[in-house]
Amino acid sequence: ELSVHYQPVIDLVTGRIAGVEALARWAHPTLGPIMPDDFIPLAEETGLISEIGREILLRACQQLAQWQRTYLHLAPGFLTVNVSGRQLIDPSLLDDVQAALNTSGISPNQLILEITESVMFANDEAALERLHDLKALGVRLAIDDFGTGYSSLAYLQRLPVDILKLDKNFVDELERGKLTASAIANAIVDLGHNLNLQVIAEGIETDRQARLLRNGHCDYGQGYLFDRPLPPEQLALRLVVPHALARATG
Ligand code: C2E
Ligand code: CA
Ligand code: CA
Repeated sequence: ELSVHYQPVIDLVTGRIAGVEALARWAHPTLGPIMPDDFIPLAEETGLISEIGREILLRACQQLAQWQRTYLHLAPGFLTVNVSGRQLIDPSLLDDVQAALNTSGISPNQLILEITESVMFANDEAALERLHDLKALGVRLAIDDFGTGYSSLAYLQRLPVDILKLDKNFVDELERGKLTASAIANAIVDLGHNLNLQVIAEGIETDRQARLLRNGHCDYGQGYLFDRPLPPEQLALRLVVPHALARATG
């Protein structure tokens, strides 16, 4: 009943698909589709998240490997997978990541693990050590929902991260046309770049938001403007059919 959908991450300069984010889906036989906001917190509570996370990770890595074999340079260049707080402290996470890399054969730097700001900034040494262990496997790390939590900017420079994901809230504000909204979004993008991080903006829904972010030199964008999370067979179509055409033909 569990499946993985993939949302394109778009290079804001070229408009091409640079990578994909794996997002869990649950099709319940009688209740119908259940969204991750409803079942991931439950899975965390019950501890099932480790098993679910392992499965999503493995399937997504194998999917990327398959796209790369089939579509070569048209395939997504990277894959991001969400890792929850509970997974981060699970001792099996390192083995699970290594196993997914080995089984799929994708190169470690093509896998990006997304960890939310609140978990990353928990400011405990064990979590920090775990992040370093993950980095030692060669994977990259992204801070998810950046700007929503309690980030201490001083702590940010201690984190072994590669990517900031600018939270959708900031992107929403851009639509209201306030100058302060652009100022904040641009400042976060600059902060990221000054720390040698790449920035992905989340939840882009309008041309105006995309334009403002591109003008502010944000590297990548994700959102309904470009694509919703798609089942693998639809994502594959997007790789070979240019965007406008793909949309026109449904
Ligand atoms: P997230 O990691 O912040 O993922 C982004 C969410 O925003 C996704 O919701 C995505 O479908 C949605 N989204 C993308 N573009 C737009 C847009 O333009 N407008 C709007 N309104 N929404 C947009 P989704 O798939 O329902 O996932 C919700 C959350 O559940 C995720 O938030 C993530 O925290 C968690 N999640 C999903 N899959 C997994 C997983 O495999 N493992 C773990 N640990 N958590 C997961
Ligand atoms: Ca995410
Ligand atoms: Ca997010």
